[in-house]
Amino acid sequence: MMNRRNFLAAAAAAAFAPAPFLRAVEAKRRVVIVGGGLAGLSCAYELRKLGFEAIVLEGQGRPGGRVQTLREGLDPGLSAETGATRIPDTHLMTLAYVREFGLPLEPFKGDDLADVVHLRGQNYVAGHGPEPDWPLQLTPEERRLGRAGMAKRYLAGPLEQLKGSGSSPIVPRPLLELDHYTLRQFLEKQGLSTDAIELVLVGADTSLSAALLLLVELNEQVTSGYFHIRGGNDQLPGALAKQLEMGGAIRYGCRVTSIGQDDSSAWALMEHAGGQEAVRGDYVVSALPFSVARNLFAEARLSAEKQRVIREQKYFPVDKIFLQMQKQFWKPKGQSGFANTDLISERFWSLGPESSEERGLLLSYVIGGNAVKLDAMDLQSRVQQTIADAEAVFPGAREHFEAARAKSWSEDPWQRGGLSRFDPGELSFIPVNARREGRIFFAGEHTSRWNGWMQGAIESAHRVVNEINA
Ligand SMILES: Cc1cc2nc3c(=O)[nH]c(=O)nc-3n(C[C@H](O)[C@H](O)[C@H](O)COP(=O)(O)OP(=O)(O)OC[C@H]3O[C@@H](n4cnc5c(N)ncnc54)[C@H](O)[C@@H]3O)c2cc1C
Repeated sequence: MMNRRNFLAAAAAAAFAPAPFLRAVEAKRRVVIVGGGLAGLSCAYELRKLGFEAIVLEGQGRPGGRVQTLREGLDPGLSAETGATRIPDTHLMTLAYVREFGLPLEPFKGDDLADVVHLRGQNYVAGHGPEPDWPLQLTPEERRLGRAGMAKRYLAGPLEQLKGSGSSPIVPRPLLELDHYTLRQFLEKQGLSTDAIELVLVGADTSLSAALLLLVELNEQVTSGYFHIRGGNDQLPGALAKQLEMGGAIRYGCRVTSIGQDDSSAWALMEHAGGQEAVRGDYVVSALPFSVARNLFAEARLSAEKQRVIREQKYFPVDKIFLQMQKQFWKPKGQSGFANTDLISERFWSLGPESSEERGLLLSYVIGGNAVKLDAMDLQSRVQQTIADAEAVFPGAREHFEAARAKSWSEDPWQRGGLSRFDPGELSFIPVNARREGRIFFAGEHTSRWNGWMQGAIESAHRVVNEINA
Protein backbone atom coordinates (compact mmCIF):
# COMPACT_ATOMS: atom_id res chain seq x y z
CA MET A 1 0.00 0.00 0.00
CA MET A 2 1.11 3.49 -0.76
CA ASN A 3 1.90 5.57 2.30
CA ARG A 4 1.13 9.30 2.48
CA ARG A 5 4.60 10.46 1.55
CA ASN A 6 4.81 8.13 -1.48
CA PHE A 7 1.36 9.16 -2.55
CA LEU A 8 2.35 12.80 -2.37
CA ALA A 9 5.54 12.27 -4.36
CA ALA A 10 3.70 10.25 -7.04
CA ALA A 11 0.86 12.73 -7.29
CA ALA A 12 3.23 15.66 -7.48
CA ALA A 13 5.32 13.94 -10.17
CA ALA A 14 2.19 13.25 -12.20
CA ALA A 15 1.06 16.82 -11.80
CA PHE A 16 4.39 17.98 -13.15
CA ALA A 17 4.83 15.68 -16.13
CA PRO A 18 6.67 17.90 -18.61
CA ALA A 19 4.18 19.00 -21.22
CA PRO A 20 4.53 22.07 -23.39
CA PHE A 21 1.15 23.53 -22.40
CA LEU A 22 2.01 23.10 -18.71
CA ARG A 23 5.13 25.17 -19.12
CA ALA A 24 3.06 28.01 -20.52
CA VAL A 25 0.73 27.77 -17.51
CA GLU A 26 3.66 27.67 -15.11
CA ALA A 27 5.11 30.77 -16.69
CA LYS A 28 1.97 32.52 -15.42
CA ARG A 29 2.76 31.31 -11.88
CA ARG A 30 0.23 29.12 -10.22
CA VAL A 31 -1.20 29.79 -6.77
CA VAL A 32 -3.17 27.21 -4.79
CA ILE A 33 -5.50 28.86 -2.27
CA VAL A 34 -6.86 26.78 0.59
CA GLY A 35 -10.22 28.00 1.96
CA GLY A 36 -13.06 29.71 0.10
CA GLY A 37 -14.04 32.29 2.72
CA LEU A 38 -13.81 35.97 1.88
CA ALA A 39 -10.01 35.93 2.28
CA GLY A 40 -9.44 33.02 -0.11
CA LEU A 41 -12.02 34.24 -2.63
CA SER A 42 -10.75 37.82 -2.82
CA CYS A 43 -7.16 36.60 -2.99
CA ALA A 44 -7.96 34.41 -6.03
CA TYR A 45 -10.06 37.13 -7.64
CA GLU A 46 -7.28 39.74 -7.39
CA LEU A 47 -4.51 37.33 -8.43
CA ARG A 48 -6.45 36.39 -11.56
CA LYS A 49 -6.88 40.05 -12.41
CA LEU A 50 -3.06 40.26 -12.36
CA GLY A 51 -2.72 37.27 -14.69
CA PHE A 52 -1.87 34.58 -12.13
CA GLU A 53 -3.42 31.14 -12.37
CA ALA A 54 -5.23 30.77 -9.05
CA ILE A 55 -7.34 27.87 -7.81
CA VAL A 56 -9.39 27.86 -4.59
CA LEU A 57 -9.92 24.57 -2.72
CA GLU A 58 -12.96 24.79 -0.46
CA GLY A 59 -14.03 21.99 1.86
CA GLN A 60 -17.73 22.82 1.98
CA GLY A 61 -20.23 22.87 -0.88
CA ARG A 62 -20.70 26.64 -0.61
CA PRO A 63 -18.40 29.68 -0.62
CA GLY A 64 -18.19 32.33 2.10
CA GLY A 65 -17.22 30.52 5.33
CA ARG A 66 -18.22 32.84 8.15
CA VAL A 67 -20.42 34.94 5.86
CA GLN A 68 -23.52 32.75 5.90
CA THR A 69 -27.15 33.81 5.45
CA LEU A 70 -29.94 31.44 6.53
CA ARG A 71 -33.31 31.70 4.80
CA GLU A 72 -34.94 28.28 5.14
CA GLY A 73 -37.34 27.82 8.03
CA LEU A 74 -37.98 31.57 8.25
CA ASP A 75 -40.69 33.81 6.83
CA PRO A 76 -39.86 34.54 3.14
CA GLY A 77 -39.17 38.23 3.90
CA LEU A 78 -36.58 37.42 6.57
CA SER A 79 -32.99 36.27 6.51
CA ALA A 80 -30.59 35.51 9.33
CA GLU A 81 -26.88 36.33 9.26
CA THR A 82 -25.18 33.64 11.34
CA GLY A 83 -21.83 35.41 10.90
CA ALA A 84 -20.96 38.77 9.37
CA THR A 85 -23.88 41.18 9.73
CA ARG A 86 -22.76 44.83 9.75
CA ILE A 87 -20.53 46.74 7.37
CA PRO A 88 -19.18 49.91 9.01
CA ASP A 89 -19.11 52.92 6.67
CA THR A 90 -15.34 53.11 7.29
CA HIS A 91 -14.67 49.63 5.84
CA LEU A 92 -13.71 50.90 2.43
CA MET A 93 -12.29 47.62 1.12
CA THR A 94 -15.52 45.74 1.88
CA LEU A 95 -17.60 48.56 0.43
CA ALA A 96 -15.43 48.67 -2.71
CA TYR A 97 -16.40 45.05 -3.52
CA VAL A 98 -20.06 45.78 -2.69
CA ARG A 99 -19.91 48.58 -5.26
CA GLU A 100 -17.89 46.57 -7.82
CA PHE A 101 -20.55 43.84 -7.84
CA GLY A 102 -23.50 46.27 -7.71
CA LEU A 103 -24.93 44.86 -4.47
CA PRO A 104 -27.72 46.88 -2.79
CA LEU A 105 -27.04 48.27 0.68
CA GLU A 106 -29.56 49.08 3.41
CA PRO A 107 -28.88 50.76 6.75
CA PHE A 108 -28.26 48.37 9.62
CA LYS A 109 -30.38 49.55 12.57
CA GLY A 110 -31.77 52.50 10.68
CA ASP A 111 -34.35 53.88 13.11
CA ASP A 112 -33.71 55.96 16.18
CA LEU A 113 -35.52 53.82 18.74
CA ALA A 114 -34.19 53.19 22.25
CA ASP A 115 -32.03 50.25 23.36
CA VAL A 116 -32.62 48.32 26.59
CA VAL A 117 -30.11 47.50 29.33
CA HIS A 118 -31.16 44.49 31.41
CA LEU A 119 -29.23 44.54 34.68
CA ARG A 120 -29.80 42.61 37.93
CA GLY A 121 -33.34 41.63 36.94
CA GLN A 122 -34.53 45.06 35.81
CA ASN A 123 -34.97 46.64 32.37
CA TYR A 124 -33.74 50.18 31.72
CA VAL A 125 -34.31 52.19 28.58
CA ALA A 126 -30.90 53.55 27.63
CA GLY A 127 -29.53 56.23 25.38
CA HIS A 128 -32.69 58.34 25.24
CA GLY A 129 -33.63 60.95 27.86
CA PRO A 130 -32.11 61.16 31.34
CA GLU A 131 -29.76 58.46 32.60
CA PRO A 132 -31.67 55.73 34.53
CA ASP A 133 -31.26 55.51 38.30
CA TRP A 134 -28.91 52.53 38.19
CA PRO A 135 -29.25 50.19 41.24
CA LEU A 136 -25.48 50.21 41.77
CA GLN A 137 -22.87 51.53 44.19
CA LEU A 138 -21.52 54.32 41.98
CA THR A 139 -19.43 57.32 43.03
CA PRO A 140 -21.13 60.72 42.55
CA GLU A 141 -18.88 61.35 39.52
CA GLU A 142 -19.72 57.96 37.97
CA ARG A 143 -23.43 58.62 38.52
CA ARG A 144 -23.08 62.07 36.96
CA LEU A 145 -21.32 60.69 33.87
CA GLY A 146 -23.75 57.80 33.46
CA ARG A 147 -23.14 54.71 31.32
CA ALA A 148 -22.57 56.52 28.04
CA GLY A 149 -20.42 59.22 29.67
CA MET A 150 -18.18 56.67 31.35
CA ALA A 151 -17.74 54.68 28.13
CA LYS A 152 -16.83 57.91 26.36
CA ARG A 153 -14.31 58.99 28.97
CA TYR A 154 -12.67 55.68 29.88
CA LEU A 155 -12.85 53.68 26.65
CA ALA A 156 -13.03 56.28 23.90
CA GLY A 157 -10.90 58.91 25.69
CA PRO A 158 -7.62 56.96 25.66
CA LEU A 159 -8.05 56.52 21.90
CA GLU A 160 -8.09 60.22 21.01
CA GLN A 161 -4.38 60.14 20.20
CA LEU A 162 -4.88 57.09 17.93
CA LYS A 163 -7.65 58.43 15.74
CA GLY A 164 -5.24 59.20 12.89
CA SER A 165 -4.26 55.53 12.76
CA GLY A 166 -7.84 54.41 12.08
CA SER A 167 -7.03 53.25 8.57
CA SER A 168 -3.49 51.91 9.05
CA PRO A 169 -3.14 48.17 8.45
CA ILE A 170 -0.69 47.94 11.38
CA VAL A 171 -1.87 47.49 14.97
CA PRO A 172 -1.01 50.94 16.49
CA ARG A 173 2.01 50.73 18.82
CA PRO A 174 0.31 52.45 21.81
CA LEU A 175 -2.29 49.69 21.69
CA LEU A 176 0.38 46.99 21.77
CA GLU A 177 1.74 48.73 24.88
CA LEU A 178 -1.67 48.36 26.54
CA ASP A 179 -1.82 44.70 25.62
CA HIS A 180 -0.70 43.62 29.12
CA TYR A 181 -3.96 44.54 30.81
CA THR A 182 -7.28 42.79 30.95
CA LEU A 183 -10.27 45.00 30.32
CA ARG A 184 -11.07 45.00 34.04
CA GLN A 185 -7.50 45.95 35.00
CA PHE A 186 -7.46 48.72 32.41
CA LEU A 187 -10.66 50.29 33.78
CA GLU A 188 -9.60 49.78 37.43
CA LYS A 189 -6.29 51.50 36.64
CA GLN A 190 -8.28 54.53 35.55
CA GLY A 191 -10.12 54.54 38.89
CA LEU A 192 -13.51 53.05 37.97
CA SER A 193 -15.40 51.27 40.76
CA THR A 194 -16.41 47.61 40.45
CA ASP A 195 -20.08 48.50 39.90
CA ALA A 196 -19.19 51.13 37.31
CA ILE A 197 -17.19 48.51 35.38
CA GLU A 198 -20.21 46.20 35.50
CA LEU A 199 -22.37 48.99 34.09
CA VAL A 200 -20.02 50.05 31.32
CA LEU A 201 -19.44 46.50 30.14
CA VAL A 202 -22.85 44.87 30.87
CA GLY A 203 -22.50 41.18 30.09
CA ALA A 204 -19.05 41.44 28.46
CA ASP A 205 -16.08 39.23 29.36
CA THR A 206 -13.76 41.48 31.42
CA SER A 207 -10.80 39.09 31.18
CA LEU A 208 -10.18 39.99 27.53
CA SER A 209 -7.20 42.02 26.43
CA ALA A 210 -8.00 45.72 26.90
CA ALA A 211 -6.08 46.40 23.71
CA LEU A 212 -8.37 44.09 21.73
CA LEU A 213 -11.46 45.95 22.88
CA LEU A 214 -9.78 49.30 22.22
CA LEU A 215 -8.95 48.12 18.70
CA VAL A 216 -12.65 47.43 18.20
CA GLU A 217 -13.52 50.78 19.81
CA LEU A 218 -11.06 52.56 17.55
CA ASN A 219 -12.99 51.26 14.60
CA GLU A 220 -16.36 52.19 16.12
CA GLN A 221 -15.24 55.73 16.93
CA VAL A 222 -14.60 56.70 13.38
CA THR A 223 -17.72 54.89 12.19
CA SER A 224 -20.88 56.92 11.85
CA GLY A 225 -23.14 54.23 10.44
CA TYR A 226 -23.45 50.59 9.45
CA PHE A 227 -24.85 48.83 6.41
CA HIS A 228 -26.18 45.42 5.53
CA ILE A 229 -26.53 43.97 2.03
CA ARG A 230 -30.24 43.91 1.25
CA GLY A 231 -31.33 40.29 0.85
CA GLY A 232 -28.29 38.84 2.64
CA ASN A 233 -24.55 39.38 3.09
CA ASP A 234 -23.81 36.01 1.47
CA GLN A 235 -24.26 37.79 -1.86
CA LEU A 236 -20.78 39.28 -1.41
CA PRO A 237 -18.81 35.99 -1.30
CA GLY A 238 -21.40 34.68 -3.79
CA ALA A 239 -20.45 37.37 -6.32
CA LEU A 240 -16.71 36.72 -5.92
CA ALA A 241 -17.26 32.97 -6.20
CA LYS A 242 -19.34 33.40 -9.36
CA GLN A 243 -16.41 35.14 -11.05
CA LEU A 244 -14.11 32.29 -10.05
CA GLU A 245 -16.59 29.56 -11.00
CA MET A 246 -16.82 31.02 -14.51
CA GLY A 247 -13.06 30.56 -14.86
CA GLY A 248 -13.09 27.08 -13.26
CA ALA A 249 -11.00 28.56 -10.46
CA ILE A 250 -12.84 27.13 -7.46
CA ARG A 251 -13.38 23.54 -6.40
CA TYR A 252 -15.92 22.70 -3.71
CA GLY A 253 -16.04 19.60 -1.51
CA CYS A 254 -12.23 19.49 -1.33
CA ARG A 255 -10.99 19.00 2.23
CA VAL A 256 -7.31 19.85 2.45
CA THR A 257 -5.46 17.53 4.81
CA SER A 258 -1.88 18.74 4.38
CA ILE A 259 0.05 21.74 3.06
CA GLY A 260 3.73 21.44 2.17
CA GLN A 261 6.60 23.03 0.31
CA ASP A 262 10.03 22.21 -1.08
CA ASP A 263 12.65 24.38 -2.75
CA SER A 264 10.79 24.79 -6.03
CA SER A 265 7.07 24.42 -5.30
CA ALA A 266 4.29 24.22 -2.72
CA TRP A 267 1.28 21.92 -2.59
CA ALA A 268 -1.98 21.03 -0.90
CA LEU A 269 -3.05 17.45 -0.41
CA MET A 270 -6.80 17.00 -0.36
CA GLU A 271 -9.63 14.51 -0.06
CA HIS A 272 -12.78 14.73 -2.17
CA ALA A 273 -15.57 12.47 -3.41
CA GLY A 274 -13.17 10.97 -6.00
CA GLY A 275 -10.40 10.15 -3.48
CA GLN A 276 -7.14 11.91 -2.69
CA GLU A 277 -5.33 14.41 -4.86
CA ALA A 278 -2.31 16.70 -4.61
CA VAL A 279 -2.54 20.14 -6.18
CA ARG A 280 0.79 21.81 -6.70
CA GLY A 281 1.72 25.37 -7.57
CA ASP A 282 4.47 27.92 -7.20
CA TYR A 283 2.82 29.12 -3.99
CA VAL A 284 0.12 28.06 -1.55
CA VAL A 285 -2.05 30.55 0.35
CA SER A 286 -3.53 29.25 3.60
CA ALA A 287 -6.80 31.17 4.03
CA LEU A 288 -7.96 28.89 6.85
CA PRO A 289 -8.63 29.83 10.46
CA PHE A 290 -5.81 28.36 12.58
CA SER A 291 -8.49 26.58 14.66
CA VAL A 292 -8.95 24.09 11.80
CA ALA A 293 -5.44 24.25 10.35
CA ARG A 294 -3.36 23.19 13.36
CA ASN A 295 -2.47 19.74 12.01
CA LEU A 296 -1.95 20.60 8.34
CA PHE A 297 1.60 21.94 8.28
CA ALA A 298 3.83 18.95 9.18
CA GLU A 299 5.50 19.16 5.74
CA ALA A 300 5.50 22.94 5.45
CA ARG A 301 8.95 23.73 6.90
CA LEU A 302 7.49 26.43 9.17
CA SER A 303 9.58 28.38 11.68
CA ALA A 304 9.17 27.57 15.37
CA GLU A 305 7.52 30.96 15.95
CA LYS A 306 4.92 30.32 13.25
CA GLN A 307 4.21 26.84 14.58
CA ARG A 308 3.66 28.35 18.02
CA VAL A 309 1.04 30.90 16.90
CA ILE A 310 -0.77 28.30 14.79
CA ARG A 311 -0.89 26.08 17.90
CA GLU A 312 -1.85 28.83 20.36
CA GLN A 313 -4.16 31.22 18.47
CA LYS A 314 -7.47 31.22 20.35
CA TYR A 315 -10.99 31.62 18.97
CA PHE A 316 -14.14 32.91 20.67
CA PRO A 317 -16.99 30.49 20.94
CA VAL A 318 -19.98 32.31 19.42
CA ASP A 319 -23.65 31.35 19.29
CA LYS A 320 -26.46 33.12 17.51
CA ILE A 321 -30.07 32.15 18.12
CA PHE A 322 -32.76 33.71 15.96
CA LEU A 323 -36.35 33.93 17.21
CA GLN A 324 -38.93 34.75 14.56
CA MET A 325 -41.62 36.98 16.04
CA GLN A 326 -45.09 37.25 14.59
CA LYS A 327 -44.73 41.04 14.73
CA GLN A 328 -42.11 43.49 15.98
CA PHE A 329 -44.03 44.22 19.18
CA TRP A 330 -41.15 46.19 20.75
CA LYS A 331 -41.31 49.01 18.18
CA PRO A 332 -44.64 50.62 19.24
CA LYS A 333 -43.09 50.91 22.74
CA GLY A 334 -40.31 53.05 21.20
CA GLN A 335 -37.76 50.24 21.54
CA SER A 336 -35.22 49.19 18.92
CA GLY A 337 -35.10 45.48 19.81
CA PHE A 338 -31.43 45.90 20.74
CA ALA A 339 -30.30 45.18 24.30
CA ASN A 340 -27.27 44.49 26.46
CA THR A 341 -28.00 42.09 29.29
CA ASP A 342 -26.34 40.26 32.18
CA LEU A 343 -28.25 37.10 31.17
CA ILE A 344 -26.91 34.12 29.16
CA SER A 345 -28.34 35.85 26.07
CA GLU A 346 -25.82 38.66 26.47
CA ARG A 347 -27.13 40.90 23.75
CA PHE A 348 -30.20 41.06 21.56
CA TRP A 349 -30.31 42.55 18.10
CA SER A 350 -33.38 42.80 15.91
CA LEU A 351 -33.73 42.48 12.17
CA GLY A 352 -36.86 42.97 10.11
CA PRO A 353 -38.85 45.24 7.82
CA GLU A 354 -39.80 48.76 8.87
CA SER A 355 -43.43 48.12 9.80
CA SER A 356 -43.87 46.83 13.34
CA GLU A 357 -46.89 44.79 12.16
CA GLU A 358 -44.67 42.62 9.96
CA ARG A 359 -42.68 39.63 11.18
CA GLY A 360 -39.17 40.27 12.52
CA LEU A 361 -36.28 38.48 14.19
CA LEU A 362 -35.01 38.91 17.72
CA LEU A 363 -31.48 37.62 17.64
CA SER A 364 -29.50 36.59 20.69
CA TYR A 365 -25.77 37.06 20.02
CA VAL A 366 -23.57 35.37 22.60
CA ILE A 367 -19.77 35.42 22.70
CA GLY A 368 -17.33 33.69 25.10
CA GLY A 369 -18.25 32.06 28.42
CA ASN A 370 -22.01 32.25 27.88
CA ALA A 371 -21.61 30.60 24.47
CA VAL A 372 -19.83 27.72 26.22
CA LYS A 373 -22.86 27.41 28.54
CA LEU A 374 -25.24 27.36 25.57
CA ASP A 375 -23.11 24.82 23.71
CA ALA A 376 -23.44 22.49 26.72
CA MET A 377 -27.25 22.42 26.21
CA ASP A 378 -29.18 20.53 23.56
CA LEU A 379 -30.76 22.58 20.79
CA GLN A 380 -34.22 22.61 22.35
CA SER A 381 -32.83 23.92 25.67
CA ARG A 382 -30.81 26.64 23.89
CA VAL A 383 -33.96 27.92 22.23
CA GLN A 384 -35.98 27.69 25.48
CA GLN A 385 -33.24 29.59 27.34
CA THR A 386 -33.24 32.30 24.66
CA ILE A 387 -37.04 32.63 24.70
CA ALA A 388 -36.95 32.97 28.52
CA ASP A 389 -34.24 35.66 28.31
CA ALA A 390 -36.08 37.46 25.49
CA GLU A 391 -39.25 37.47 27.59
CA ALA A 392 -37.32 39.01 30.52
CA VAL A 393 -35.94 41.81 28.33
CA PHE A 394 -38.86 42.29 25.91
CA PRO A 395 -42.05 41.16 27.69
CA GLY A 396 -44.36 39.64 25.07
CA ALA A 397 -41.61 37.64 23.32
CA ARG A 398 -43.01 34.27 24.37
CA GLU A 399 -46.47 35.13 23.08
CA HIS A 400 -45.17 36.34 19.67
CA PHE A 401 -42.58 33.58 19.12
CA GLU A 402 -43.12 31.47 15.98
CA ALA A 403 -39.90 29.71 14.93
CA ALA A 404 -36.16 29.49 15.74
CA ARG A 405 -32.87 28.96 13.93
CA ALA A 406 -29.56 28.51 15.72
CA LYS A 407 -25.85 28.51 14.91
CA SER A 408 -22.92 27.53 17.09
CA TRP A 409 -19.59 28.42 15.46
CA SER A 410 -17.65 26.18 17.85
CA GLU A 411 -19.67 23.20 16.67
CA ASP A 412 -19.09 23.98 12.99
CA PRO A 413 -16.38 21.48 11.94
CA TRP A 414 -15.09 23.90 9.27
CA GLN A 415 -14.53 26.71 11.78
CA ARG A 416 -14.22 25.50 15.40
CA GLY A 417 -14.81 29.01 16.68
CA GLY A 418 -16.32 32.32 15.66
CA LEU A 419 -13.66 35.02 15.79
CA SER A 420 -9.96 35.12 16.60
CA ARG A 421 -9.48 35.95 20.27
CA PHE A 422 -6.47 37.69 21.78
CA ASP A 423 -5.87 37.60 25.51
CA PRO A 424 -3.44 40.06 27.16
CA GLY A 425 -0.05 39.87 25.48
CA GLU A 426 -1.37 38.14 22.36
CA LEU A 427 -2.16 41.02 20.02
CA SER A 428 1.45 40.69 18.91
CA PHE A 429 0.44 37.35 17.33
CA ILE A 430 -1.16 39.25 14.42
CA PRO A 431 2.03 40.13 12.49
CA VAL A 432 3.39 36.61 13.07
CA ASN A 433 0.08 35.08 11.94
CA ALA A 434 0.41 37.14 8.76
CA ARG A 435 4.06 36.44 7.96
CA ARG A 436 4.86 34.36 4.87
CA GLU A 437 7.03 31.30 5.27
CA GLY A 438 8.88 30.55 2.07
CA ARG A 439 6.32 29.62 -0.59
CA ILE A 440 3.40 29.53 1.85
CA PHE A 441 1.41 32.71 2.48
CA PHE A 442 -1.19 33.39 5.18
CA ALA A 443 -4.51 35.22 4.79
CA GLY A 444 -7.66 35.39 6.93
CA GLU A 445 -9.18 37.71 9.52
CA HIS A 446 -6.76 36.43 12.20
CA THR A 447 -3.85 37.90 10.23
CA SER A 448 -5.26 41.45 10.09
CA ARG A 449 -5.72 44.35 12.49
CA TRP A 450 -9.38 44.31 11.36
CA ASN A 451 -9.68 40.86 12.92
CA GLY A 452 -13.26 39.78 13.38
CA TRP A 453 -14.44 41.73 10.35
CA MET A 454 -14.96 40.97 6.65
CA GLN A 455 -12.59 43.87 6.05
CA GLY A 456 -9.90 41.90 7.90
CA ALA A 457 -10.30 38.95 5.54
CA ILE A 458 -10.21 41.23 2.47
CA GLU A 459 -7.28 43.35 3.70
CA SER A 460 -5.28 40.18 4.42
CA ALA A 461 -5.98 38.90 0.89
CA HIS A 462 -4.82 42.15 -0.67
CA ARG A 463 -1.64 42.03 1.43
CA VAL A 464 -0.92 38.48 0.24
CA VAL A 465 -1.55 39.47 -3.41
CA ASN A 466 1.02 42.27 -3.01
CA GLU A 467 3.50 39.88 -1.39
CA ILE A 468 3.13 37.34 -4.22
CA ASN A 469 3.24 39.97 -6.91
CA ALA A 470 6.28 41.79 -5.46
C1 LIG B 1 -20.72 35.51 14.71
C2 LIG B 1 -19.91 36.37 13.79
C3 LIG B 1 -20.27 37.69 13.62
C4 LIG B 1 -19.54 38.50 12.73
N1 LIG B 1 -19.96 39.79 12.51
C5 LIG B 1 -19.35 40.52 11.55
C6 LIG B 1 -19.90 41.77 11.15
O1 LIG B 1 -20.93 42.21 11.66
N2 LIG B 1 -19.25 42.47 10.18
C7 LIG B 1 -18.13 41.99 9.57
O2 LIG B 1 -17.60 42.67 8.68
N3 LIG B 1 -17.60 40.80 9.93
C8 LIG B 1 -18.18 40.06 10.89
N4 LIG B 1 -17.70 38.82 11.21
C9 LIG B 1 -16.36 38.43 10.73
C10 LIG B 1 -16.31 37.89 9.32
O3 LIG B 1 -17.36 37.01 9.08
C11 LIG B 1 -14.97 37.16 9.18
O4 LIG B 1 -13.91 38.00 9.62
C12 LIG B 1 -14.66 36.74 7.75
O5 LIG B 1 -15.79 36.24 7.10
C13 LIG B 1 -13.56 35.70 7.81
O6 LIG B 1 -13.21 35.29 6.50
P1 LIG B 1 -11.97 34.32 6.29
O7 LIG B 1 -11.87 34.10 4.83
O8 LIG B 1 -10.79 34.86 7.01
O9 LIG B 1 -12.32 32.96 7.04
P2 LIG B 1 -13.53 31.95 6.85
O10 LIG B 1 -14.76 32.66 6.48
O11 LIG B 1 -13.55 31.14 8.11
O12 LIG B 1 -13.09 31.02 5.63
C14 LIG B 1 -12.36 29.84 5.79
C15 LIG B 1 -12.87 28.81 4.79
O13 LIG B 1 -12.03 27.65 4.87
C16 LIG B 1 -12.85 26.50 4.70
N5 LIG B 1 -12.13 25.35 5.25
C17 LIG B 1 -11.93 25.04 6.55
N6 LIG B 1 -11.16 23.93 6.66
C18 LIG B 1 -10.86 23.55 5.40
C19 LIG B 1 -10.07 22.48 4.85
N7 LIG B 1 -9.44 21.61 5.63
N8 LIG B 1 -9.98 22.38 3.50
C20 LIG B 1 -10.61 23.26 2.68
N9 LIG B 1 -11.36 24.28 3.14
C21 LIG B 1 -11.48 24.44 4.49
C22 LIG B 1 -14.12 26.85 5.42
O14 LIG B 1 -15.19 26.05 4.96
C23 LIG B 1 -14.29 28.33 5.06
O15 LIG B 1 -15.07 28.49 3.89
C24 LIG B 1 -18.41 37.97 12.06
C25 LIG B 1 -18.06 36.64 12.23
C26 LIG B 1 -18.81 35.83 13.09
C27 LIG B 1 -18.44 34.38 13.24
